[in-house]
Amino acid sequence: MPIPSLPAEGGCRCGRVRLRISAKPLLTMACHCTGCQKMSSSAYSLSAAIPADGFEITKGEPVIGGLHGASKHYFCGYCMSWMFTRPEGLDWFVNLRPTMLYDPAWFTPFVETWTSEKLPWAETPALHSYAALPAFEEYDGLVAEYAKSQA
Ligand SMILES: [Zn+2]
Ligand SMILES: [Zn+2]
Repeated sequence: MPIPSLPAEGGCRCGRVRLRISAKPLLTMACHCTGCQKMSSSAYSLSAAIPADGFEITKGEPVIGGLHGASKHYFCGYCMSWMFTRPEGLDWFVNLRPTMLYDPAWFTPFVETWTSEKLPWAETPALHSYAALPAFEEYDGLVAEYAKSQA
């Protein structure tokens, strides 16, 4: 699997919020859940789990959107691009929407989740598919396998 060349810069549709990543993703994902369908206005969302200390906002101030719940979904307050998510209780990584990067061509989803809610035609090249989410104890193995696939 290809990896981004680092550091990699990105921004929202209008450019008022910009970001930089300086660490490789721990895992790449596509999520077919109906919540992601709503927020992405599409069939599924894309996530690259970036270690939190390798992720920074370099311009602007993203705002909270979505359900305003325990998992924080960050948007540009002007163009409303859904930029990244800080998942509840998992503060060591940030789920970046990889299409915010100026060059997202390296991205392919390694894992897909919530296929039980997917649109009938929606397919991804993910190697691992889950009807809902992987069990919590499966993540270490997935992260290790993803890292090996990048080596
Ligand atoms: Zn914007
Ligand atoms: Zn989802």
